[in-house]
Amino acid sequence: MSTYKGRALGTIGHFGTISFHETKNYQCGEGGALLINDKNACKRAEIIQEKGTNRSQFIRGEVDKYTWRDVGSSYLLSEMNAAFLSVQLDNAEGIYEERMKAWNWYKTGLQQLETQRFITLPEIPNDCRHNAHMFYIKVQNLAERSKLMEYLKQNNIMAVSHYVPLHTSQAGLKYGAFVGEDLYTTPESEKLIRLPLYYGIEKEEVNHVVNHIQKFYQQ
Ligand SMILES: *Cc1c(COP(=O)(O)O)cnc(C)c1O
Repeated sequence: MSTYKGRALGTIGHFGTISFHETKNYQCGEGGALLINDKNACKRAEIIQEKGTNRSQFIRGEVDKYTWRDVGSSYLLSEMNAAFLSVQLDNAEGIYEERMKAWNWYKTGLQQLETQRFITLPEIPNDCRHNAHMFYIKVQNLAERSKLMEYLKQNNIMAVSHYVPLHTSQAGLKYGAFVGEDLYTTPESEKLIRLPLYYGIEKEEVNHVVNHIQKFYQQ
């Protein structure tokens, strides 16, 4: 449901992936989709996801028995997970609109704090349409973030940080590399707080969170 220069994300390039992990807008616990715009790669992917066999061709009646053809593993979504996901995809617009409403309530509700230069809010570039996956604010620095997160926690509001930049993680230090000097990535990531946003969140609940952030800065 998000686009870049009018093109749906996942359709730019030969391969695109979409996650259906439980934290995502459309989800079935675990799972995902691989989008391919090349017929041959598509055929091969079908075999790889079926444990390296051409069982899909067999099920469609294209061959009279199936066997191993390639490397592979069991990458199939179960029927139950697929059913759970399928109805969400049918209602994709509705779910999108609900999330977008909540996203905009936050954006409007917190505008004043941004004008007063206490926090910064997400800016969506003109070329992009986003899908309201998450709403975040940025505060001045790490110390302030810790204080605000603690304050929200004491008021039963779950607001969390986002991931550490991968190059600073244990595995990143081992396998990755940072090109140039880390002037922005780490400092910016330390300012970020994610606010509660889920399908069905109500306006009063968003206002409750907004009011507490305002109270924090009044103090
Ligand atoms: C998206 C996400 C995952 C899983 O992503 P996959 O691409 O489906 O592996 C796991 N944990 C969190 C918190 C996520 O946001």
